Amino acid sequence: MARDPRYDILFEPVPIGPVTLRNRFYQVPHCNGLGGTLLRGHAGLREAKAEGGWAAVCTEILSIHPTSDSWPFAQVKLWDEDDVKSLSILTDAVHRHGALAGAELAHGGFAVANRYTREVPLAPSPIPNRRDPWQARAMDRADIRAYRGWHRRAALQAKKAGFDIVYVYAADDLELLQFFLSRRRNHRSDEYGGSLENRARLLREVIEDTKDAVGDTCAVAVRYTIDEFSGPDGLVSDAEGADILEMLGELPDLWDIKVSPWAEDSLTSRFGPEGYQEPFVARAKKLTSKPVVGVGRFTSPDAMVSQIRRGIIDIIGAARPSIADPFLPKKIAEGRPEDIRECIGCNICVSGYTSGAVIRCTQNPTMGEEWRRGWHPERVPAKKSDATILVVGAGPAGLECAMMLGKRGYRVHLAEAARELGGRVAREAKLPGLAAWARVRDHRLQQLEKLDTVELFPESRLSADDILALAPLHVVLATGAHWRRDGLGRNNHKAVEGLGGTTTFTPDDIMDGRLPSAGPVVLFDDDDFYLGGVLAEHLRRQGLEVALVTPAALASSWTVFTLEQEKIQKRLLELGIAIHANLNLTRVANGSVELACMFTGARRTLAAAAVVPVTARLPDEKLYDALHALGDAPAKAGIRSVTRIGDCYSPGAIVHAVYSGHRYARELDEPPSDDLPFKTEPIVLD
Ligand code: ADP
Ligand code: SF4
Repeated sequence: MARDPRYDILFEPVPIGPVTLRNRFYQVPHCNGLGGTLLRGHAGLREAKAEGGWAAVCTEILSIHPTSDSWPFAQVKLWDEDDVKSLSILTDAVHRHGALAGAELAHGGFAVANRYTREVPLAPSPIPNRRDPWQARAMDRADIRAYRGWHRRAALQAKKAGFDIVYVYAADDLELLQFFLSRRRNHRSDEYGGSLENRARLLREVIEDTKDAVGDTCAVAVRYTIDEFSGPDGLVSDAEGADILEMLGELPDLWDIKVSPWAEDSLTSRFGPEGYQEPFVARAKKLTSKPVVGVGRFTSPDAMVSQIRRGIIDIIGAARPSIADPFLPKKIAEGRPEDIRECIGCNICVSGYTSGAVIRCTQNPTMGEEWRRGWHPERVPAKKSDATILVVGAGPAGLECAMMLGKRGYRVHLAEAARELGGRVAREAKLPGLAAWARVRDHRLQQLEKLDTVELFPESRLSADDILALAPLHVVLATGAHWRRDGLGRNNHKAVEGLGGTTTFTPDDIMDGRLPSAGPVVLFDDDDFYLGGVLAEHLRRQGLEVALVTPAALASSWTVFTLEQEKIQKRLLELGIAIHANLNLTRVANGSVELACMFTGARRTLAAAAVVPVTARLPDEKLYDALHALGDAPAKAGIRSVTRIGDCYSPGAIVHAVYSGHRYARELDEPPSDDLPFKTEPIVLD
């Protein structure tokens, strides 16, 4: 289909210094947990974006020197000629599809602990290290000279590795250059401290050094935090944050503007809408004539056009939208924006890196699997047989599985007991702050509508006999899971005494609209992820008195990995929800609960008219068991396989369910692999 002319502006080329972006879509630097040792995986990920139409595809931080080492987090380094060679794999992959490759040169200063190199961390002033309980050393003039030399060498190496855009990085509260700018970190009294001009001196010098070193053929971009969200001592967008831009605005070829810290920059949809950085980027745009890139979880082409037309930004920056859909620009270019797999703003991608894992994405199960499994984000191999497949359950696992099987060309019947499709996603998206999660369902339903290979059967609860009568060649059970009523979970290895009666409400009860009629409600969160906190908020918003009890030290503690924990705790406290940490639930009595201190075991009681245990889930395996109980009848009827996927195989997060459904569809009729399930990166010894 032809592109909608309304979106033509998005496809205008933009010159940046000596190079030109082919359109206004720009994949800003983002981490992925592949860098460093998983080179081919990293190149495969970036290549998918280039193929998908992004004009620029950037790396994550490239450490420029051993005094900046973020071990044990995956890091890419640009220290020597071997690194130049390995990064060339990436630039070649990006260039194959006509995109520009950007290198984010970085030095983490006191934000890295140098656990690998054991070098003393560096900072403008002698301040405690961000991660470890030791201090960073204040840089003297010789250190500053040396740092400028490292940056210059790294810029030249980036150019040699084939990069077209070289970054000077002063953002994310992760970078030495930002620390020099900010009064919070820079307490110096020499020419690099004190006045704003002095604090900005190093950034100015490094921009000039980089222009001088590589500016003839490479664009020099500055990634800059205009607001640190840290009060008047930090960079504030209507004070020093803007003043610095005013001073340096014309020096680089491109400004990549954002806020920090990371939790504000990669704001989840629970805490902010698309375009949430607009006021900050808009301010920056007024202070420079150079092109400005801005981010804000943009997935709507109309929102993008509006940002450009209103003069907020020149270039649409994206990390998460490009992860959820590496082909976002192409889909708009081809006149099919409705096919965009929109980011849901859950930060599962971030949690990969922050928890020390390889990137994963709720919406895009191919993310990180491009090279090692050969999963292309858009193309799937055609079917290898004429099998008909019955998928039972239309939650995220069943929907993804049916969609992918249908795209391969298989005939699929998708049966769902409920009238509303979407399973847990449909239910959870109705809870406070999670509305965008419905995109997991909506994207797949929209795609299914286009497929004549898949038939949907809502309001069809299937029994084992029904399946026997239908006799498809393959049965896929995606029947989900339900929350336990008895409190067994991470910390209680048997049922909690007193739970399970009429004053017990499981998360499923609440999502089904069965709420306690009166408080106080004690929500016992032994799951630690988002749901406990979301349900506490939901109950509180219904006017109930709520206390959240957790054996962890923090509410929703696992959400530190999605960068949400502090925001969640703040929201719960502001709503008047009492948080009782480091306590296990040991007994439920009439009108109260007994809690035990996680350290001393000391007991105390808390008033409770109702208890909500958010502890663990049980797979819904009734159908699987019933089919097995039929002995060889399914085989005799022609059913060759019965497979469980998603939560009914093992309860997990939505990302796991989607991945599981996708994997089944990819692997059907493929020869089973006896060896490794995917390619591993070769380690070549000289
Ligand atoms: P997952 O996360 O694994 O996709 P969900 O719990 O989100 O799992 O979805 C499972 C879906 O399966 C639910 O919508 C549920 O109504 C449906 N389901 C469960 N049992 C049956 C059945 N016997 N027949 C049809 N649908 C079923
Ligand atoms: Fe968006 Fe979630 Fe995917 Fe990250 S994991 S890109 S936030 S959908």
